[in-house]
Amino acid sequence: MGDRPSGAREGWRHPVPPGFAWPPGYRAAACFTFDVDAESPILFDHPEAAGWLDVMSHQAYGPRTGVPRILRILDRQGIKATFFVPGYTAERWPDIVRSIRDAGHEIAHHGYLHEGARSATGPEEEERRLVRGLEALDAVAGIRPVGYRGPNWEVSYDTPALLVRHGFRYDTGLMDADHPYHLAVSPEPGAPTIVELPAHWGLDDWEPYNYLPGITGSGVISSPADVVARWTLELEALVEEAGLFMLTNHPFVSGRASRAAALEQLIERAKAIDGVWVTTAVEIASWTASLDLPSVVHDRPNLEAPSR
Ligand SMILES: [Zn+2]
Repeated sequence: MGDRPSGAREGWRHPVPPGFAWPPGYRAAACFTFDVDAESPILFDHPEAAGWLDVMSHQAYGPRTGVPRILRILDRQGIKATFFVPGYTAERWPDIVRSIRDAGHEIAHHGYLHEGARSATGPEEEERRLVRGLEALDAVAGIRPVGYRGPNWEVSYDTPALLVRHGFRYDTGLMDADHPYHLAVSPEPGAPTIVELPAHWGLDDWEPYNYLPGITGSGVISSPADVVARWTLELEALVEEAGLFMLTNHPFVSGRASRAAALEQLIERAKAIDGVWVTTAVEIASWTASLDLPSVVHDRPNLEAPSR
């Protein structure tokens, strides 16, 4: 049994887990991230779409139009962001990926062809994909990422140990906490840890906005005003809880004009709240790694004998 982020039996009285604190002068953090999926998730799930120009053009909007617009917004706002880039995206759009790097933003790992962990036959296949993504980012941009986000947010019980084996320092995508924590890679006593930066589907732009007939979405496309109002509620509530606001946008989705404009308003709001640390995932991970925190163990449920 490991410690949960809420700590011991009386932990419910305190919103901030034992041992956790933000750097001096800060009371919460906001991290703006962009998953540069481009064609990769569609090609992984629907290889036949490689022959569909309409669908490929929808995905190409990200690197061709969305990324430059987002880079302009981040430059105007004077903040740094984290871009999760599948290896295939780097190979297909090398100059775009280099432009993200050259603008000083963090580039992190997001699979090779955006392969969800549940599609892997086992840890060997997961590892092959991880390595192929690393090789692509290195070859295209000379980048050795230290952060990882599972495509489709899919993470297996093998993933954390693979990340540690390949020198990663953080994962972002588990959904069990409001604060960063030290994730034990296995239930073994003394197991190594990696920093986890928790996220949530509610802070992802894919669900409210994205629609590709027959592939994803219902066809009901939300107003950017409504989406950003919802995200602002979560930002303000998480600040009161001293938590981490981890927002995930996709350049092919939120790079569109009115969505990007609304996102810029949200960035302005985050910057305007006193004590909010607006920074990259790697900065938050480095800070968290420096803290003396209990390891959080995720036990695989045993259907025969529930342990919790
Ligand atoms: Zn993705």
